[in-house]
Amino acid sequence: MSRLEVVCGPMFSGKSEELIRHVRRTLIARRPVWVFKPALDERYSTEAVVSHDGRRVEAISAATLRDVIEHLTEVHAWEASPGIIAIDELQFFAPDELDRELIDEAEGIFSRLIRCQHRVVVSGLDLDFRGKPFGVMPAIMAMAEKVSKLTAVCQMCGEPATRSQRLIDGKPAPVGTPVVLVGGDEAYEARCIEHWRYGD
Ligand code: ADP
Ligand code: MG
Repeated sequence: MSRLEVVCGPMFSGKSEELIRHVRRTLIARRPVWVFKPALDERYSTEAVVSHDGRRVEAISAATLRDVIEHLTEVHAWEASPGIIAIDELQFFAPDELDRELIDEAEGIFSRLIRCQHRVVVSGLDLDFRGKPFGVMPAIMAMAEKVSKLTAVCQMCGEPATRSQRLIDGKPAPVGTPVVLVGGDEAYEARCIEHWRYGD
């Protein structure tokens, strides 16, 4: 029986590291692994999940969650022995909480995945830079059997950070800038609630 697990938290909280750890353990157990990431995130490379400290594992870039399922079907994953399906940066597959069609489709896909023979581990940002639940994440967190909320280290004070601060020229990004803006440490900082700023 499958088990859906969500790893979430702000940027730099170790979500990709944790996903990679799950995948490595499955490889040690000599079980099959399938790793996916959204095609739009080309921060490092298109065919690996890479953490901010350089750990990596091979991955398939997919434009949509439907492509993920299609790929799993093509490689006969549904007939394989139990393994792990891992998806990084899940929020980017359905980033807009108002896009009901895409969110419903994602929910449908996960209610199928939750019944397959493989463990399903996904990671993603629980909140966007505005501090709002990020697209499909809350729905999948609700469906999951386990949710791990990780914290980063606040770059202002060193306390646990739960928020991603978007910066433009070193200053908090203005209200109304697009939600999806892929970037690394030049555009984002991990911040605690005290030091996180948006729209003030
Ligand atoms: P995520 O996928 O959540 O963005 P990663 O797994 O890619 O995070 O990277 C986590 C790593 O980032 C940490 O192990 C650490 O080496 C590094 N790092 C850089 N800045 C921070 C920070 N502010 N807080 C915690 N870790 C940080
Ligand atoms: Mg990551």
